[in-house]
Amino acid sequence: LSQPFQEAIPVIDQFEQHGYEAYFVGGAVRDHLLGQSIGDVDIATNATPDVTMSLFDRTVPVGIDHGTVLVLHNGNEYEVTTYRVESDYRDYRRPDHVAFVSRLEDDLARRDLTINAMAMDRYGQVIDPFQGRNDLTHGVIRTVGRADDRFHEDALRMLRAVRFSSQLNFAVTNDVLTAIKRYHTLLQEIAVERIQVEWFKLFTGYGVAHALDVLNKTDMYQSLPLLNQERDVIKHLTKNIKRPIRHPEAVMALCACLSNTLTLNDWIKSYRCSNIIQRQAKKLIQSVSKFKENGLTSFVVYTLGDVNLEAFQQVVQSLDLPDVSLEQLHEVYEALPIQSKQQIAVDGKQLQSIIPDWRKGPWIGRYLQAIERAILAGQLSNDYEAIERRVKQWKEQEND
Ligand code: ATP
Ligand code: MG
Repeated sequence: LSQPFQEAIPVIDQFEQHGYEAYFVGGAVRDHLLGQSIGDVDIATNATPDVTMSLFDRTVPVGIDHGTVLVLHNGNEYEVTTYRVESDYRDYRRPDHVAFVSRLEDDLARRDLTINAMAMDRYGQVIDPFQGRNDLTHGVIRTVGRADDRFHEDALRMLRAVRFSSQLNFAVTNDVLTAIKRYHTLLQEIAVERIQVEWFKLFTGYGVAHALDVLNKTDMYQSLPLLNQERDVIKHLTKNIKRPIRHPEAVMALCACLSNTLTLNDWIKSYRCSNIIQRQAKKLIQSVSKFKENGLTSFVVYTLGDVNLEAFQQVVQSLDLPDVSLEQLHEVYEALPIQSKQQIAVDGKQLQSIIPDWRKGPWIGRYLQAIERAILAGQLSNDYEAIERRVKQWKEQEND
């Protein structure tokens, strides 16, 4: 077993020593069997949440109503969830009530996809009542039980099925496809916050083109925010996106660029994105339009900053624009005479001392900006004397 599981074994042990069961479950087991690096290690147990809390020194009742307790052990966090089944699905959303159960198999049965419904014990023995392993081998996304029933219980599972098909580059079964066609409108009942998470993850997989194709041919896009209003957007996304897009701001920027009538703000609002995503998406859009006008200038790359280069590259490659590689962008970035305002060889204070007869005022910002542009355009070298000379010339010209 790999290190993340090894580190969690004392937690499993603690349950077992007190006469309870505990297993690794969900995504970590799936990713482990795929030979991929694993994310969070989640644990399922027949101990009730209060028992779990009594067995460990440091716990946080993060989702106690759903039976989930966070256990802190040796610097790691584990979500420990009591075996449960969900009942009373109302409005096709998450259930209001969960019932704790005593059998692991019943807990696995309430999970969405066969590949997510496996458990593993501390020795690496896999419990797989729904043949998830077989589906992993064959690259298939299949629901636990009939897709119709499972999507009707919780409509978000439709989008999850498609997002996993992107992330794992797996095919979805016909059962899943047919059920999505039939029930996708139920997605409109789902909280946008939950949709957003799956929506952005959908773009991060190598199977993104296939996943978008599924959205298209099942008409599921019609039940996602704003996509029903502008048919061209999904058509373009499906046609143009061939590679993963790992940045939410790039996805939002793309949607806005492909829209005729909807603005970036419309997209940001409808998908309930953070202000950070909004700001970065705006920067991406501005840079794309500068890139369209003048090509790959120092100024475009400078304005983006190195943290946004990858997102920019992903937007450009998904629009009908001349291709730029990430290497190219990094090269231009590394060759910039300055990479941020802070690197300009003079600051506002020094500017004032260069022109002592002008009082402090907005001219300082204006001059700093002009200096920045001249340096980036290669018309001024970034050293104090050169800038001083140039600033004095500008001042003379203004006085004339
Ligand atoms: P990721 O690596 O993206 O986190 P994951 O499989 O861990 O993948 P989560 O969303 O963290 O996915 O959910 C953890 C587990 O809970 C899933 O593996 C699945 O067994 C179960 N699960 C999550 N959402 C649902 C749902 N809507 N219906 C049924 N089971 C679900
Ligand atoms: Mg997870």
